[in-house]
Amino acid sequence: MPKLTLAELDVSHRRVLVRVDFNVPTEEKAGKVVITDDTRLRETLPTIQYLLGRGARVVLMAHFGRPKGKPVAKYSLAPVAERLAELLEQPVQFSPELVGEAVEHRVDALAPGEVLLLENMRFRAEEEANDPEFSKALARLGDVYVNDAFGAAHRAHASTAGIARYLAESAMGLLMEKELRYLQGELAHPAKPFVVILGGSKVSDKIGVIKALMQKADTFLIGGAMAYTFYKVLGIPTGDSRVENDKLDLARELLAAAKAKGVNFILPVDNIETREIKAGTATARNTPRLTVEQGISPGYEAVDIGVQTIELFKAEIARAKTVLWNGPVGIFEIPDFARGTFSLAEALAASDATTIIGGGDSVTAVKQAGLAEKMTFISTGGGASLELIEGKDLPGVAALSERK
Ligand code: ADP
Ligand code: MG
Repeated sequence: MPKLTLAELDVSHRRVLVRVDFNVPTEEKAGKVVITDDTRLRETLPTIQYLLGRGARVVLMAHFGRPKGKPVAKYSLAPVAERLAELLEQPVQFSPELVGEAVEHRVDALAPGEVLLLENMRFRAEEEANDPEFSKALARLGDVYVNDAFGAAHRAHASTAGIARYLAESAMGLLMEKELRYLQGELAHPAKPFVVILGGSKVSDKIGVIKALMQKADTFLIGGAMAYTFYKVLGIPTGDSRVENDKLDLARELLAAAKAKGVNFILPVDNIETREIKAGTATARNTPRLTVEQGISPGYEAVDIGVQTIELFKAEIARAKTVLWNGPVGIFEIPDFARGTFSLAEALAASDATTIIGGGDSVTAVKQAGLAEKMTFISTGGGASLELIEGKDLPGVAALSERK
């Protein structure tokens, strides 16, 4: 069902309650919380600025970290309010209270074009419990609801889903709309050849994605630790590499399904293997082309795709019209094992295809490679983008009003 868009919402002079994803990475420097990546704040600016420009009275709700239902000073959103004020170039008021009279007074006092950020929603256990009374109390702070928190849309919490029931109208924010346009719209009918690159640490995390995309993809390029669970099924020795022994049947099933459907399911033909998982190790080396006789060496762990695999994957990417990437193909956090991941990022950057990066660590890798600007679309959601690609309904979207 198409959902109401921000453009269809009458917001002028109204109190607009906006759920945003301000769950930004931070570091503590000299006792002060410093935001290390403000992408999620920047990505929300279009929605906030749209509303402020139309004279809305904007009330922002967000969560931050895992305070587990009680106030925890280091998870306060106060530093985020400061950074947001800089980005918006206007004051951002802050409310330490989430619900109740004090905050209702603050909201009543908001003038059109002013913005107020509420403290971390997860300071109250009722948030994650999706408590109806808490949702109702939050709903008293607005006339209409906008959900722009794509990264939290796979959670049915009070401020992401429950609240919508208690407000007359609820719409997608601009970021939410954009995420759905790429991860749902574009991938529903991808331009072909459609190449899916999957990596990461566990095949079990990506089963849903593989199954869902088996219907649409022409080619899967498999890297990361998940490749070695497939090796095991094929009888290729895995050395000390990570293998999910309880997922072998499933891996076998996926290989069979790919074969039956005529989908190219390409595993690494060579790897970087090492005895030690650390930077500067002298034990890392590129394996020869792997066979059933000669796989990953005993005592060695495969930590990246090898040079032959990089060339093979690059050739597939060069032919693609659509590329979806989720999951680094090696332990890219360690520079010695980052070459595969960064080489693929470069191949995507050089391609004319629609390139979509599915979120989480893959996004971090693409940013580290300095190539984020070269991608067609980079999702701000980790879990949410995976669930969407799997074809699941996101509770934070399902709760919104339908288009008239
Ligand atoms: P994303 O967040 O993009 O969905 P994942 O969370 O599934 O990706 O996986 C990311 C992690 O996978 C990274 O921390 C990376 O170090 C790890 N990884 C990739 N390749 C390997 C490997 N060969 N062995 C162990 N871990 C790996
Ligand atoms: Mg991850």
